[in-house]
Amino acid sequence: MQNHDYDLFVIGAGSGGVRAARMAAGFGARVAVAEDRYLGGTCVNVGCVPKKLYVYAAEFGKGFKDARNFGWNGGNGGTPAFDWATLRDNKKAEISRLNAIYGDLLAGVHAEVIDGRARIIDAHTVAVGEQRHTAEKILIATGGWPHIPEFPGSGNAISSNEVFDLEQFPERLAIVGGGYIAVEFAGIFNGLGARVSQLYRGPLFLRGFDADIRAHAAQEIRKSGVDLRFEVNVQSISAGPGGLQVLLTDDTAIEVDAVLYATGRKANLEGLGLESVNVKITDAGTIEVDDEYRTSEPSIFALGDVTGGIELTPVALAEGMSFARRQFGGLEDTVDYDFIPTAVFCQPNIGTVGFTEDEARTRFGPLRVFKSTFKPMKHTISGRDEKTFMKLIVDRASDRVVGAHMMGPDAGEIMQGIAIAMRAGATKTVFDTTIGIHPTAAEEFVTMREVWREG
Ligand code: FAD
Ligand code: NDP
Repeated sequence: MQNHDYDLFVIGAGSGGVRAARMAAGFGARVAVAEDRYLGGTCVNVGCVPKKLYVYAAEFGKGFKDARNFGWNGGNGGTPAFDWATLRDNKKAEISRLNAIYGDLLAGVHAEVIDGRARIIDAHTVAVGEQRHTAEKILIATGGWPHIPEFPGSGNAISSNEVFDLEQFPERLAIVGGGYIAVEFAGIFNGLGARVSQLYRGPLFLRGFDADIRAHAAQEIRKSGVDLRFEVNVQSISAGPGGLQVLLTDDTAIEVDAVLYATGRKANLEGLGLESVNVKITDAGTIEVDDEYRTSEPSIFALGDVTGGIELTPVALAEGMSFARRQFGGLEDTVDYDFIPTAVFCQPNIGTVGFTEDEARTRFGPLRVFKSTFKPMKHTISGRDEKTFMKLIVDRASDRVVGAHMMGPDAGEIMQGIAIAMRAGATKTVFDTTIGIHPTAAEEFVTMREVWREG
């Protein structure tokens, strides 16, 4: 190993790369990390963290209105005005603070951070600028990059990378897509006071989520004020005197200040030099790895979004830890991908873990399905027209809870605990014999008694 400059050269200081680098260095490896953009990667800079800060900002908007029936009034009866620049600049300051923390964390374990874009030269050599570095093992953790399809005027569209730092607040915003990012940003900008049109090409958005959650989400998001349209796409975008003219496939047009494309992300392989090594790329354009995250080039590994798995930060973190334990800690370690909980931070949140009803029926056969729909207690007085939906899917043969889905306030927070129970194999009887916490929405998960659908 001492023949090389480093034991491990990590390309990309995002969620997976930083975790792998820190853990490998903790096991005594000599580690370098190349990063060409921002320490902390997508999640910290243009993903989870700024997104959640903007979600908090958005929730105040409705909160001020909710407060009135609880006796609070805005002095002159109005809602306070929102100032985009304050939010954006306070967010920037917080992200700079986090960037510095990431630098300190790497310095603290003596991992060397190399600024610049890394290019693989051969199975053990990486170049950053003119400088070449050799390593026993190379880890590719370069994440993903937003993908905007080509069409007339597509250059006028922005992606999630740009939306956080817009100079002007977009009073009228079109969002294209029906996945996590589109739904979350529709909620954010709607909550901040913009007029938002969300355009999805299929009959119902949030593909991959439970059908009842998707239908409930469409209903609640429309009620919250988003102009949510299905079976429609964009033909062209052109700049006009009053804003951007967006021509839709139904031949109608809308005029907006910005168009956000949230149509998925592609593996970030640009200029990585993979043509000089034997790293296999899948048809989807992601790096193929085995369950040790080894590519078809034995000294090169890859993990996180660049491998096209489940594109979530905790998954990239788990993969980074597993890789370091195995390669540098001498430990047998694999990531268990079963029952990974996830949340969509729309208003209210969607939280989910386990199988959708359709998936569960295919996998387990007959099911018992339980549901609860109710007005959150807070809104009995606030007057807000919002409904919570919760659903449990139980394998009839084993009584095991195999799916839990919720759309309601704090669903993301609630689902973490449910995920632990489900990973431990909890049956519906265990849920039923667990005493609730009253009064909460979460207690509904232990009080659903009547079967809603069976078979
Ligand atoms: P990344 O975090 O993308 O890191 C890759 C790093 O590699 C980047 O810093 C990049 O600059 C660097 N890089 C790329 N190429 C090179 C090169 N050649 N040389 C040097 N450096 C290079 N996940 C959640 O779990 N919860 C959320 O709420 C959530 N919200 C999100 C919101 C948005 C808007 C987006 C876009 C994503 C969100 N995600 C969320 C997903 C999450 O951000 C990713 O799954 C996670 O960041 C993947 O980590 P990674 O290590 O694979 O890659
Ligand atoms: P998603 O894959 O979730 O959604 C992409 C959406 O764009 C889908 O609705 C898709 O439609 C649609 N689409 C794709 N191509 C086109 C096209 N050419 N024209 C019109 N629509 C199109 O990607 P996102 O960009 O929303 O997010 C990327 C990933 O980041 C997520 O999958 C998630 O893993 C992660 N993420 C996680 C978050 C969280 O944990 N809260 C938040 C944000 C992101 P169709 O369904 O028909 O294919």
